[in-house]
Amino acid sequence: MTPSLPQPSLAQRLTTWCRARLVRPATDVLLAQSCALCQLPSHATPVCAACAQDLPRLTPTRCAQCALPLSSDQSTCPDCARQRPNFDATYAVWAYDFPIDRLIRDFKYGHHLYLGGFFAEHLAHAVEAGLMASGQARPELIVPMPLHPNRLRTRGFNQAAEIARHLAKELDIPCAFDTLIRVHDTPPQAGLHRDERWRNLVGAFACPKPLTVKRVLLVDDVLTTGASLSACADVLHRAGASWVDVAAVARTPDTSARKS
Ligand SMILES: [Zn+2]
Ligand SMILES: [Zn+2]
Repeated sequence: MTPSLPQPSLAQRLTTWCRARLVRPATDVLLAQSCALCQLPSHATPVCAACAQDLPRLTPTRCAQCALPLSSDQSTCPDCARQRPNFDATYAVWAYDFPIDRLIRDFKYGHHLYLGGFFAEHLAHAVEAGLMASGQARPELIVPMPLHPNRLRTRGFNQAAEIARHLAKELDIPCAFDTLIRVHDTPPQAGLHRDERWRNLVGAFACPKPLTVKRVLLVDDVLTTGASLSACADVLHRAGASWVDVAAVARTPDTSARKS
């Protein structure tokens, strides 16, 4: 017969209860934060696992070059058929839809910089999976979509550079912030027709020095028409790149709702 263990006293039981519920490990206390979407505790990440799971993922069937979701009856991308972009492949995580649109707006205009690492972590997974699926070589350099100095002064930071900085660490690829610059502060793209948007960006970007690498990963927060990214890729190709990948946190799935 198994001898019965001594029962804890009421005082011992109370101490155990308090330790379990009130005394949290120091790391929990230091890293405690609320989910940016549901406000429930999310521990060491700005978006809890349940909300991250529910974010609108892009469908697996999409254009390899621009990541536009394709319907089951589409074998070619209508956007790339109309105007082929200068970048060679695109990796993106989410459809630019609720609530990822809200998170990106908070990041960009509300200075919620703590979201940069979260975006980059998911983007790194998308890049790694895309490279594995395509068999393409790894990029040698990460370059963020540049902001014109006027816009940088107004906003205070470049959201693409912030994502690129974290992405470089995740992928262990060097990041250069001065390889690509924006030389013209072009008017906002909204309200322009598609062709006008592409013309609006001619001469807007420059590479001050020739590139010393061949494969570049160009980073932005949202891929919309792809006009800005295509103009950047053109400049990178002219500076010596033989292959330009694009990595964007979100992709606008609806071709009628593009902003840049
Ligand atoms: Zn949540
Ligand atoms: Zn496409």
